Amino acid sequence: MQFIANALVIMGCGLLLAALLTLRRLIAQLSSGRIRYYWYGLGALIFLFIAGYVAYAILYWNSQSSLASLVVPVIFFFGACFVFAVTALSLRTALDVRRVAVLELENITDPLMAIHNRRYLERRLDEEVARANRYNLPLSLLMIDVDHFKNINDTFGHGTGDLVLTGLGKMIADACRDSDIAARYGGEEIVIIAPNTKASTAMILAERLRLAVEAAALLPTGGSHAGAPTKVTVSIGVAELGEESRDVASLLASADKAVYRAKREGRNRVIGDVPRAP
Ligand code: GH3
Ligand code: MG
Ligand code: MG
Repeated sequence: MQFIANALVIMGCGLLLAALLTLRRLIAQLSSGRIRYYWYGLGALIFLFIAGYVAYAILYWNSQSSLASLVVPVIFFFGACFVFAVTALSLRTALDVRRVAVLELENITDPLMAIHNRRYLERRLDEEVARANRYNLPLSLLMIDVDHFKNINDTFGHGTGDLVLTGLGKMIADACRDSDIAARYGGEEIVIIAPNTKASTAMILAERLRLAVEAAALLPTGGSHAGAPTKVTVSIGVAELGEESRDVASLLASADKAVYRAKREGRNRVIGDVPRAP
């Protein structure tokens, strides 16, 4: 009886220690914030339980001879089983939630530019245009196209072309507000949805972006590329939801038209396909 009682308390202690280790792994999965402190609190409680188990084991090491004296060690043991099961399940749940979140993010992200992909763009464009129309809010769209990108690929190789797109994606993500939605529309074309934004403000964002790209060192310097392009530039078309473009298709067509004009007028510029005031 004595042996069983001691063994139950020691195994309970071991389970509580295992729960503490599991808890450490679980806390590492959590973003820093209040929720971490709650789990730290639970960890401190488990620690106190361990101290209690140890004190009990020392006090009653040689004095448990009857069947009734097994009651407390049995409760201790199953209590520890419960704590361990809860922490282990919590860790499994946290890992599962994280995996699903990563998959969801991958599903809507362009791997090269690390901005959203076309699938996400189309969904959000429908939503944002519907919302803007319903509440009569302004909404602008920027369509960005890299100038002479084929030439960059041909001169420096596709690897460098890819690096240019990656750098561009980061610049665009940095330049946008949290409420803006930037997505890769096609090969070297990017669309930014700017909800609650009039074309005049969107033109400022576009110009700021154009200047930043022009000033950035996105291409390799030196080397043996005679007559090679020395900088990356973009042409940007801006369109605003309005009388002439009430739906997604006409808004995209309007921005596309503006990009086309920017190309025709010499590239590296921002053109707005904005309805003129009467
Ligand atoms: P323009 O100034 O008129 O826009 O000329 P452009 O050369 O940029 O336009 P064009 O449409 O002729 O060429 C686009 C090029 O973009 C061709 C294609 O190979 C390249 N491209 C598309 N997607 C990728 C990609 O993911 N990586 C790389 N490296 N190149 C890409
Ligand atoms: Mg293009
Ligand atoms: Mg291009």
